[in-house]
Amino acid sequence: MTVRTRADLASLPAYVPGKSIPGAIKLASNEVSAGPLPSVVKAIAEAATGINRYPDSGCVELTGRLADKLGVPADHLAIGCGSVTLCQQLVQATCAENDEVLFAWRSFEAYPIVVHVAGAKQIRVPLTSEHGHDLDAMAAAITPNTRMVFVCNPNNPTGTALRTEQIEAFIARVPSDVLVVIDEAYKEFVDDAHIPDGVELAKQQWAAGRDNVAVLRTFSKAYGLAGLRIGYAVAQPHVAEALRKVYVPFSVNALAQVAAMASLDAEDELMVRCRAIVAERTRVRGELLAMGYDIPPTQANFVWLPLGERTTAFNEHCLAHKVVVRAFAGEGARVTIGEPEENDAFLAAARAFTS
Ligand SMILES: *Cc1c(COP(=O)(O)O)cnc(C)c1O
Repeated sequence: MTVRTRADLASLPAYVPGKSIPGAIKLASNEVSAGPLPSVVKAIAEAATGINRYPDSGCVELTGRLADKLGVPADHLAIGCGSVTLCQQLVQATCAENDEVLFAWRSFEAYPIVVHVAGAKQIRVPLTSEHGHDLDAMAAAITPNTRMVFVCNPNNPTGTALRTEQIEAFIARVPSDVLVVIDEAYKEFVDDAHIPDGVELAKQQWAAGRDNVAVLRTFSKAYGLAGLRIGYAVAQPHVAEALRKVYVPFSVNALAQVAAMASLDAEDELMVRCRAIVAERTRVRGELLAMGYDIPPTQANFVWLPLGERTTAFNEHCLAHKVVVRAFAGEGARVTIGEPEENDAFLAAARAFTS
C-alpha cells in the first residue's frame, strides 16, 4: 500500500524558484547581486565553531537588537526563517479550516501556498489596471470568515507601492479582529516619502487602539542574506506571542542569527548598496520606457514588464541572451536590478526584443 498523504495537496501550486543557469546572469529572484560583506562572512565563520550547540531558540540577542533599532518592546517581535515562514506562521496562528485570507493578485507567490497548506481559503483580489493593490475591492471582499489580509508594499512582482493615507484608509475599513499584515520585504529600496515605514504606521495604529496591524521584514533582500533564511514580524504582543507559539523550535539557525546581527552592524554600508540599486532602477526603467515598454513606477529592486501574451517569447529571448528573468506566462516578467553591467546585459536583450 502507498502511504496516504492529504488528497488536497494535489491541487497545491508548487513554488517556482528563480532559475539558476550556469554562465547566465540571474535577475530572477530579487537578490542583491553583490556578495556578502567581509564583516558578515567573518562573523559567520567565527560562529561556525559553535554549531555543535543548538541555536538560541528565542533569538534573544537579535530580538533585543531589533527592538532597539525599531523602537518597540522586545515582546512585539517574532523572528522566523525568512518572512515566508512568518507568513506561514501568521496563517497558522490566525486561521482554522475554511477561514479566509485575503490578498491582492498577482502578488507574492508564497501567499497561496502557505494559505492552502494551512487548510485556509484564499481570496485573491485582482490588481488595478495600474498594477497596484485595489484596496476598495479588497475592503469589499472582507467577510465574517476573513482572518487576515496581506498587503505587500511594495508589491512583488509589480513594484507598485501604496501611500500612507491609502493604507490608513484601508485599515479603517477592516474589522478590528482581522489582522492586516504589511509585507515590507523591499522596504529598504523605497525612496518615495509618501510610502510609509510600516513599523511607524503600525505604531500609530496601535496608539489609536487598532492592534490588528503587523509588519513583516526580511534580511533576504537589502541585507543580502537570502541563503540563510531569517526575517521578523513586528506586531502587538498577543500576535507576536501567537507567532512564537507556532514556531518550530530551533528553526532559526545560529549562523543566521549571527549574520543578521553583523548585518545590522554594517547597516550603513548595506544601505549605500541599496541607494546604488535605486539609482540603477531609475536608469533601467528610464531606458525601458524609452524603448517603448510600459513599466509601472517601482519602489522595489526590480521592474515589472506587463507583456501579457508576449511574456513567454520575451523570457525565451532573454534566456537566449543569457539573462534569467522571472516570467509569469500570459502576465508579465519581473526583472531584478543587479550590478550595472548585469543591467546593461538585460537592457541589450530587451532592446533586441523590440527590433
Ligand atoms: C522575497 C520576499 C519575501 C522574503 O522572503 P524570505 O523568506 O524572507 O526570504 C517576503 N515577501 C515578499 C513579498 C518577498 O518578495
